Amino acid sequence: MQLTDGIQYVKGVGPKKKAELNRLGLFTVYDLLTYFPRTYEDQSVLTRISELQAGEKATVAGTIMNVSERQGGRRGMSILMALIGDGTGILQVTWFNQKYLKSKLKVGKKVFVTGKAAYAYGGRGQFAMSQLSSFQILDEEEEPENMTGIMPVYPATEKLNQKFFRKVLGGLLTEELSIRELIPASVAERYHLLSRRKALQDIHFPADFAALKEARNHLAFEELYLIQCGLLLLKRQAREHSKGIRHLLSSELVGRLVKSLPFQLTDDQSRTWQEIQRDMESPLPMRRLVQGDVGSGKTVIAMLALVKTVENGYQGALMAPTEILASQHCEGFVKQLEPLGIRVGFLSGRLTKKKREDMYARIAAQDVDIVIGTHALIQEGVAFAKLGLVVTDEQHRFGIAQRAELEKKGRLMPDVLVMTATPIPRTMTLTVYGDLDVSLIQQLPPGRQPIRTFVRKPDKRDLIYDYVHQQLAAGRQAYVVCPLIEMNEESDLPSAEEVYDELRYGIFRDMPCGLVHGKMKAADKEQVMQDFYDNKIKLLVSTTVIEVGVNVPNASIMVVEHAERFGLAQLHQLRGRIGRGEYKSYCILVSEMKTESARERLKIMAETSDGFKLAEEDLRLRGPGQFFGSMQHGLPDLKVADVLNDMDILLKARQAAQETVASQAERQDVLPILALQYKEQFENITDI
Ligand code: ADP
Ligand code: MG
Repeated sequence: MQLTDGIQYVKGVGPKKKAELNRLGLFTVYDLLTYFPRTYEDQSVLTRISELQAGEKATVAGTIMNVSERQGGRRGMSILMALIGDGTGILQVTWFNQKYLKSKLKVGKKVFVTGKAAYAYGGRGQFAMSQLSSFQILDEEEEPENMTGIMPVYPATEKLNQKFFRKVLGGLLTEELSIRELIPASVAERYHLLSRRKALQDIHFPADFAALKEARNHLAFEELYLIQCGLLLLKRQAREHSKGIRHLLSSELVGRLVKSLPFQLTDDQSRTWQEIQRDMESPLPMRRLVQGDVGSGKTVIAMLALVKTVENGYQGALMAPTEILASQHCEGFVKQLEPLGIRVGFLSGRLTKKKREDMYARIAAQDVDIVIGTHALIQEGVAFAKLGLVVTDEQHRFGIAQRAELEKKGRLMPDVLVMTATPIPRTMTLTVYGDLDVSLIQQLPPGRQPIRTFVRKPDKRDLIYDYVHQQLAAGRQAYVVCPLIEMNEESDLPSAEEVYDELRYGIFRDMPCGLVHGKMKAADKEQVMQDFYDNKIKLLVSTTVIEVGVNVPNASIMVVEHAERFGLAQLHQLRGRIGRGEYKSYCILVSEMKTESARERLKIMAETSDGFKLAEEDLRLRGPGQFFGSMQHGLPDLKVADVLNDMDILLKARQAAQETVASQAERQDVLPILALQYKEQFENITDI
């Protein structure tokens, strides 16, 4: 049998089961083989009924002695009850609302049940189980011995139960299957890997937990190794196919800029700058990600790199995700760089046609050294005379496609620097940005006022807003963040619009207030942000649109309504809008904290200001799905590997992938496998 064969050829799969399996997205033998267990039940230890302990989980094997059915509860649910005996005692097992079992639960049949034992109600010491974590009714011919051990628990459906999956997969794994190794033999040998067949066998039916762990590690390694190979080969391809720019050692201009800065670089900034210089001085194109928490000082790093490219006779581009961020950067750059004789230009979609075309002409004539702008920078008409470096700020909002668009704007491959404030745990950085080198800025510049964060219930809102009012009266500015934009009948959450009205007609009627949210026209949004920036608005009510925002050092207080609705990483990002100046800053998270998880998350938020720690907590609490989903740009889903807990495996896989990419023979081995396994992502890689 081949892995590509249709699922209907598997023993035990008839037309009905086939349809059901298709519904689960399983079409081939391969799909079935990689339908991995959700968890496992340890049925290797059977407990005698006489030895059950109340409150302890156990697996019991016995014979059905009696079955009864009744209706119960207000909604008349079906309750099936069986008495099961094993010669040492009797166990009462109950199933709620599983009527279909009635025809299967026959007196005399052997069953396995796993669950928590409790004293039966009115049963005089008899034990009962009602919430089974798994059970199995054996057919006449089945030997109970085959059913013990560590049993896989699959994501089952009503029509496809555990027993079905166990039987079909058990059968499949004894077949003559040709299972092709995905990892080149030389790598398997170097890393002492299992065979793929053994790993697949053991992930479904492990002999013990050690074997299970080994199988899982193998499959996670395999998955991460292949993705790393793909990413590294892409990077290699980009480099070999293109001629990069070799910047010279920095000298005069950069030195003058460093001297003119009002501060000294932190150690992390210096190290990052060293790494960037090394990349820029190499003839290979730079592909570097600078990851640094909000306020860690990434802008000055971008500025240094841009000045270096200018000093070498090239032009630089800095692309920001919003108009106002771009213009803010521009202002800062002009102030810092014009004294050094560097010409800074601005380009955005909102310039008049005339101004835009003027700028196009200046860019084409190298009449401007550094251009700062928005998406407009990658528009048709923009042609750089000599593009040496592209910096994108807050890149996850750009996407790889747009970055590539900008890269195409030079004749030689320009260097690329990507800056992000999204704290991504390292495992994820490597999986998501495996094609980029990473520099990390973890420490904040000295003298930063820490932001104090409090969690308060809504009954304290009056007090909170009184306090905010005092702060505004003392000259500061404030943000109020809400989860929704407008009133919504289905939700009793206050919307930004409601809160805005409540505040501006209420306690803040003597203060200029503003509202900004994602549904507003871009121009209106920018106007409000600009007014806040110019201190014409004191209190800004908003949705999360301010997440990637402007630098308003005078804003020192933030109130987040219904804070439990936001992820930790997001709250952290929001909170980064304050504490940017000399003033003591306060973030107040308002929440009912109705659930344990809300309480826990907000507590962490109040206690931690480390973005990386928060991102990891967020991942732990919300699962990687949401987090990863928004980060990855069409990368393959991970079936086995776990972005949080498989760091060791990832590092090993990356090491192995690096070796593979360096070896002609291993590249030849792995390329067809990549094209097969990850067609969509890595099909277009060729060896060169
Ligand atoms: P982000 O990393 O969020 O983009 P910025 O580059 O905007 O951070 O820097 C935040 C603030 O910190 C700016 O006002 C900047 O001038 C200041 N800053 C940056 N580096 C240092 C430093 N080494 N020492 C003191 N202040 C610094
Ligand atoms: Mg920034």
